[in-house]
This record gives sequence, structure tokens and C-alpha cells, in this order.
Amino acid sequence: MLPVVVVPTIAIAGSAERFPVRRIFCVGQNYADHAREMGNDPDRQQPFFFAKPANAVVENGATLPFPVRTDDLHHEVELVVALAAGGSDVDAKDAPGLIYGSAVGIDLTRRDLQAVAKKAGRPWDMAKGFDRSAPIAALTPGAPPETGRIALTIDGEGRQSGDLSMMIWSVAEIIAVLSTYVELAPGDLIFTGTPAGVGPIRAGQRVRAEIAGLEALEVSFT
Ligand code: MN
Repeated sequence: MLPVVVVPTIAIAGSAERFPVRRIFCVGQNYADHAREMGNDPDRQQPFFFAKPANAVVENGATLPFPVRTDDLHHEVELVVALAAGGSDVDAKDAPGLIYGSAVGIDLTRRDLQAVAKKAGRPWDMAKGFDRSAPIAALTPGAPPETGRIALTIDGEGRQSGDLSMMIWSVAEIIAVLSTYVELAPGDLIFTGTPAGVGPIRAGQRVRAEIAGLEALEVSFT
């Protein structure tokens, strides 16, 4: 008997319907202050991409087991864009037409594994694409916000704070460049990068991520 494979889905604000997730792409270092805190020069960076498995998505409000194989789990609050349509070599001016909606997400990162991978020139997959590494709040349909506060707190204490207008590459530009590497398709999600202030999450802590105009995201760790 063949296994039954379930397509992962995420919530849609104000709807009982759910958005099916095909793939999850992520942009690295898309805010100048975060690129600098990671030791890079933001002015000379072309956007670069990595991926998480679709089944890494986590529902808003979840309590998660503390991830295995890490002593340095990091938070990265990000605007997540969901695509209703796809294509290759998409022009930036046409990119907004592919978007279904947007949401608050956290790109959970096993920073210790990433540091080892970077040093050894190895892939980031096990640092970024682990189980339950992509908490995402409900999608708000329509055009994603281009300005507004993006912030993250742990147990009520401020950790990350920035503004969407600080993005080096706009959502439209990200879609355009990513579509030169892969043919984008309906159901694809894109994490668009994080502002400065990334840091560790400890067992027992509660993480809250916010973007102005979108449903706030909260997850706890056992
Ligand atoms: Mn990230």
C-alpha cells in the first residue's frame, strides 16, 4: 500500500479555507543592518536564496518541542509572501500580480549548524530546513505591506525591530530574481529577509512576531 502524503497548508485570515504550500524559498540578508551584523557588506550583495521543506510550516499559537541538534536556535522575523501564480523570468513590474497574500513568519535557524556549514563551505539545509522551522501566521489576502514596523519579542522583551521599507530588495524584485533561478508556481512561499537583532531562543520561552497590518504570530518552546 502506498503512503498517503498530505499537502501542508497555512491559515487564511477571515476564512475557513487554507492555502496549500508547494515550496518555501527564503532570501538571505535583505536588510542592511542584519547583513552587517552577520559580517557582510550589504551594498555588494545580490539577493541569494535557500529553501525549507513545505512541511516545515507551523500554525500560529503552537507550542513546539525545542529543536534537536542545536544549542543556538535563532529567531528571524520576516514578511512571508504567498504566490497564487508563477512563472520564469518574471518582470518586477508583473511580480505583484502573482501574489496571493502575505503573513508574518519566523525563519527559525540552528545558527550553530549554520556557522559550521559556512566555515566548511557546506549546504545550509540542516541549519535552515529542519522540522517545524517555519512558523507562519494567517495570510492576509492582497498586496503585501511595503512599509511599516516589523518586530519580534521574547517573553515580552524587544529583540528585533525594523521597518519593511529597510529591505534592500523589494518583494517584486525578489520574485523577479528568484524566478530566474526556478520556475515559480502557485503555492510557493517566500520569506523576504529579517532586520537586525537576531539572537537565541531558549527552551521555555514565548516568541511573538509582528508586522503592522498583519496577524501577529506567537509560538512557544517547551
Ligand atoms: Mn532569514
